[in-house]
Amino acid sequence: MGKKRRPKYIFVVGGVLSGVGKGVTSASLGAIFRSKHFKVTALKADPYINVDAGTMNPTEHGEVFVTDDGDETDQDMGNYERFLDVDLTRTNYMTTGRIYQTVIDNERSMKYKGRCVEVVPHIPEEILRRIKEAQKVHEADITIIEIGGTVGEYQNILFLEAVREMKLKYPDDIALVLVSYLPVPSHIGEMKTKPTQNAQRSLNSVGLHADLIVARGPMELDMIRRQKLSLLCGIHKEYSISAPDVESIYEIPLKMEDQDIGNKLLKILHLPGRRSFLKQWDAFVHQIKHTKREVRIGVVGKYFGTGDFTLADSYISVIEAIRHASWYHSAKPVLDWIDSEDFEQNPQRLKTLNAYHGVIVPGGFGTRGVEGIIRAIQFVREQKIPYLGLCYGMQLATVEFARHVLGIEEANTVEMDPASREPIIHVNPFQEKNIRENRYGATMRLGAYTAALKKGSVVCKAYGKPAISERHRHRYEFNNAYRKRIDDAGLRVVGVNPESDLVEIVELDGHPFFVGTQFHPEFHSRPMRPHPLFREFIRAALKRTVL
Ligand code: GLN
Repeated sequence: MGKKRRPKYIFVVGGVLSGVGKGVTSASLGAIFRSKHFKVTALKADPYINVDAGTMNPTEHGEVFVTDDGDETDQDMGNYERFLDVDLTRTNYMTTGRIYQTVIDNERSMKYKGRCVEVVPHIPEEILRRIKEAQKVHEADITIIEIGGTVGEYQNILFLEAVREMKLKYPDDIALVLVSYLPVPSHIGEMKTKPTQNAQRSLNSVGLHADLIVARGPMELDMIRRQKLSLLCGIHKEYSISAPDVESIYEIPLKMEDQDIGNKLLKILHLPGRRSFLKQWDAFVHQIKHTKREVRIGVVGKYFGTGDFTLADSYISVIEAIRHASWYHSAKPVLDWIDSEDFEQNPQRLKTLNAYHGVIVPGGFGTRGVEGIIRAIQFVREQKIPYLGLCYGMQLATVEFARHVLGIEEANTVEMDPASREPIIHVNPFQEKNIRENRYGATMRLGAYTAALKKGSVVCKAYGKPAISERHRHRYEFNNAYRKRIDDAGLRVVGVNPESDLVEIVELDGHPFFVGTQFHPEFHSRPMRPHPLFREFIRAALKRTVL
């Protein structure tokens, strides 16, 4: 794109139901425009009063996705990064709370020069400032902005007002996409467009009109439905895009581009059409569909009373990282959520872990189920089942090793026992103050930190380089007072942050694969570029024979 071209913006809003795939649709649009050689960035506007997602319960709100610059954001940001293959920053995320906070801070520092500060225009003004800032920082030709929630609720009304004002200012540079749900009631057996018509009407009532509708639903749009959407929602008949449920989300860019969605949006944005180059996606989806053997991964945590559905949302980046790595090895991943509390009550059930090719303990917080996790880690260590511990999974692997190999019976993390006499995982003085003063928002060790890797270690070979940078989100740390003893006994410290001397990675000698990371490698995994540690974990898992 020539330098003088005006930046273009695509807003994505949801209709009818939440959770129908606005995030993946936005991410897929990003992938499509990237394949057309545009520079693309994507933003999420979350209607919550929370300043960031760090204080939200992941079983309610989904995973907290951490950016390199340490922002605690919405899980959709992970989809953008995976589909666009870019690293986003805090400029790509905003919440209602964050916007109000800036406006109030501005007011306190007299930035409004004595004028009355009002919801309109000052809130939409701040929303637009942030959108433009992201466009600038990422030098984007096309900026995709997903507005959380569904049209018609109170929560996102100011974001919609911002779109209206932007459209007034730049009528040729804005496209509005409505991702809507078309239900098929079982007693009727046909797809219904009425709720989508109502969603368009809700948009109309705030001065907006969707240009294009992505019609989610259990089946394809037929001709009649297309005509209805066109007539009753007032859109060009070509501008309804069929988006039925698919097996893998990675098919979505292909399915949408089959209907030429990219060029249709370019037309709305007053840009000439361009060819898309989605060959790699094609090959990737082909690879997914032609997996040869299953790789069974047990994910152990405190899952009692949490359904599979919420778990899938809370650990989406871990799941995706397992998938990317499995597909890389032409294997089909099968995941089981294993409730660690079960092992506390019924230790004989630990044997069931033998059925897995590999076991992961993902990140987590709190005390529930922790003893069960420690037992599970002991079992996989002793039975030589490939193990990957992510954050809490690294900390608890260290505690387990200290207890059962070094014989430090009272070894613990102070998260479990603040008065522990053997604090293998402890809290640094700075964090102690945060905890004492209830300062929980954005006070963890967050974002990218580097680690120097030990030459010749499993992880150094996996990464293929001696220095790495990975994303963090934790409050507690490996206690360096125990480092030498643990390392000497065989749980090697193979990754250390050079500035702080904090332990970043441990790996066990003489085990097919036993690695724990203080960081979250899952955030860096990309569909066509699996994370090296997940890749090697799955490689080891596939070597294991299970009955
Ligand atoms: N609860 C641990 C800590 O705060 C681990 C955090 C995590 O797993 N993300 O340090």
